[in-house]
Amino acid sequence: MLFQPLLEEIVATLRPELGRAGQVASYIPALARVPAAQLGIALRTCDGEEAHAGDSMTPFSIQSISKLFTLTLGMRELGDALWEHIGREPSGSAFNSLVQLESEHGLPRNPFINAGAIAVTDRLVSACDAKAEILTLLSDLCGEPVYFDEEVAASEAATGFRNVALANFMKSFGRLDNDVGTVLDAYFHDCSIRMSCLQLARATGYLCRDGAHPYTGMQVLTERQARRVNALMLTCGTYDAAGEFAFRIGLPCKSGVGGGIVAVVPDRLTLCVWSPALEPSGNSLLGTKALEMFTARTGLSIF
Ligand code: GLU
Repeated sequence: MLFQPLLEEIVATLRPELGRAGQVASYIPALARVPAAQLGIALRTCDGEEAHAGDSMTPFSIQSISKLFTLTLGMRELGDALWEHIGREPSGSAFNSLVQLESEHGLPRNPFINAGAIAVTDRLVSACDAKAEILTLLSDLCGEPVYFDEEVAASEAATGFRNVALANFMKSFGRLDNDVGTVLDAYFHDCSIRMSCLQLARATGYLCRDGAHPYTGMQVLTERQARRVNALMLTCGTYDAAGEFAFRIGLPCKSGVGGGIVAVVPDRLTLCVWSPALEPSGNSLLGTKALEMFTARTGLSIF
């Protein structure tokens, strides 16, 4: 199937809606300055076909999409022992909520809420040079160097009061081994990574290929681990709207407040959409519509 005309059509259809609705994330000052009227889409198939349209090569702040890659590193470093530190249930509450942590003794519900990603990052800080590892992994996966955005990382560090609270709260339950400042520094840097839709469509390729590297074929994760990442994306990957995403789109997805969403069609392709204005759920408004159009037109869904 040739996807290029379809992606161009999706962008052309949605372009008139740019800047009309949704809000760019404003709680991180450096993100509030991103112009809302941008829309990109890119995909890469298991056979190596690539298609992309709109602002597909503009780097953006991947934010919580980085939680996919910290989870991947955590699974590689710790294997099943990772699950002693983290759950796998949807939280049903905000991605930065403190409420559940109190009643559940500091054990985060899943690796895609902030508390969960901070717990995984703590394990990585113990096991390796966490900040270097994620850049190495991503650069290797997409075949180009990938960098932190120091301005965004500093902006988050200056205003990330809830994340500081979450980390200290977990530390008080004995759930973090490392210094809170060190763990948060790695976490904020992970969120600050800048990548384009095309780079993310390439980098996530192992998730539609049973864990195999998109270019070399080496196992990034085992087949079972890759399946589990997809399961977590479907159930927990889009904030408190995972049910709505399964209903409207029917693919494992992971979103970030920078306006990016990656989606996996197992055994077929990975795709990434980006548009900075968000719905109240925290997911990209036009990104979600673009994914919905894509699955409606292609019939590609896991259901
Ligand atoms: N850096 C953001 C935070 O921790 C990530 C939020 C997101 O994309 O979900 O608040």
